[in-house]
Amino acid sequence: MEYELRLLVELQDIDSAFLKLEQLKGTLPEEIKQLKKQLDNLTQKLEEDEQSNINAEIERHKAELEIKALEEQLAKYKQQIYSVKTNREYDAITAEVETTEIEISDLETQVLELLDVEQKLKPVVEQEKAELAALESTLKLKKLELDELLGKTQKEQEELSLKRSELIKKIDKPLLSTYERIRKGKNGYAVVPIANGCCSSCYRNLPPQTIIEIKKMNQLIFCQTCGCLLVYKNNEESTEIKK
Ligand SMILES: [Zn+2]
Repeated sequence: MEYELRLLVELQDIDSAFLKLEQLKGTLPEEIKQLKKQLDNLTQKLEEDEQSNINAEIERHKAELEIKALEEQLAKYKQQIYSVKTNREYDAITAEVETTEIEISDLETQVLELLDVEQKLKPVVEQEKAELAALESTLKLKKLELDELLGKTQKEQEELSLKRSELIKKIDKPLLSTYERIRKGKNGYAVVPIANGCCSSCYRNLPPQTIIEIKKMNQLIFCQTCGCLLVYKNNEESTEIKK
């Protein structure tokens, strides 16, 4: 049974390596997806803010031109006051002057408000541009990392698959199905080493006699709590199969 037990240990090592490769790949695509989403949102926000800034600038220039035209008009009215001949004419021009002055004042308020909008948007746009650049470079790095990983894991996975198919040929069918059955119910871990006198899957304390039996590595001993196959793995000792 020792030989079979060692085969199962090796099989579990292969399957654990498979799991680790899957886990590695599992996080990066999600990270990339999130980064892309952030990037899209920020790009949209930046476009909107830049557009608002441009709109404010256009509106302000328009108001400034209107002010200039009205000021010229106002100067003309004021000039005309000196050449009026009747009271009616005088009143009419004075009324025009007042109206024009109110219009100019309103436009000046509008210019100040628009300047305020522009001044507030400027640092926001700068900040967003910097954030966008940072996000883009992070995304680029993550994509490279994933490509590299996919290339690397593919080779490792192929090697593992090959090793696995060779290995399972040597294991008795009933034992192999027991292994697969436990593995399915235990998130991929059927063969677990004892650690500090406990099952390293469920951490149940094991009786000293059981530990002695497990260390012999010559019989199948299952954890009474979680059902995993318990083995002894000395870190300094190679787990390679003795043939
Ligand atoms: Zn257990």
